[in-house]
Amino acid sequence: MTVGVLALQGDFREHASVLRTLGADVTLVRRPDELAAIDGLVIPGGESSVMDKLARTFGLADPLRERIRDGLPVYGTCAGLIMLADSVLDAIAGQQSLGGLDVVVRRNAFGSQTQSFETDLDIPELGEVPVHAVFIRGPVVESVGRNARPLATLADGRVVAVEQGNLLGTSFHPEITGEHRFHEYFLSKVRARTLAA
Ligand code: GLN
Repeated sequence: MTVGVLALQGDFREHASVLRTLGADVTLVRRPDELAAIDGLVIPGGESSVMDKLARTFGLADPLRERIRDGLPVYGTCAGLIMLADSVLDAIAGQQSLGGLDVVVRRNAFGSQTQSFETDLDIPELGEVPVHAVFIRGPVVESVGRNARPLATLADGRVVAVEQGNLLGTSFHPEITGEHRFHEYFLSKVRARTLAA
């Protein structure tokens, strides 16, 4: 079971480290030929407009879209969630996402870097202990289409984590807080798909 981490930009090292701690074989993905060997992919936080440009420049965007359509398990955090969203509000001119998740997200929905915040979220799927979530210029999920479902909401009801089959996205960054349950949940999807193949 080999898990790729999209390593064009952003905090891919932190994701690779969590995945290795959980026993996964990790490959950093920068070129299209590196996609063939992976059974799952993490798209890190960073800057989605830059990630989009680099993904297209390196010829990764279309092959990635194909793998996603084909059922590849993918977990996106923050900018990674934006990359997975079918529709992106407040994108820069010409910005594209990879899509796959039937959601509309709004970039930078919580304001600037200085308005970053932390909170605890109840996510029954991950157990009783709340998830400590760090938001760094994160997106919010403005609407969840009928193919996707919300996994976590803020106290005001705004959706900040979603799931759709093998796709998982969070507005926040479990990879920097020692919170491993999202990565474990993602790896269980990778494992299930590998066993079924
Ligand atoms: N604001 C960034 C974007 O639009 C996301 C920030 C993050 O990944 N921490 O891509």
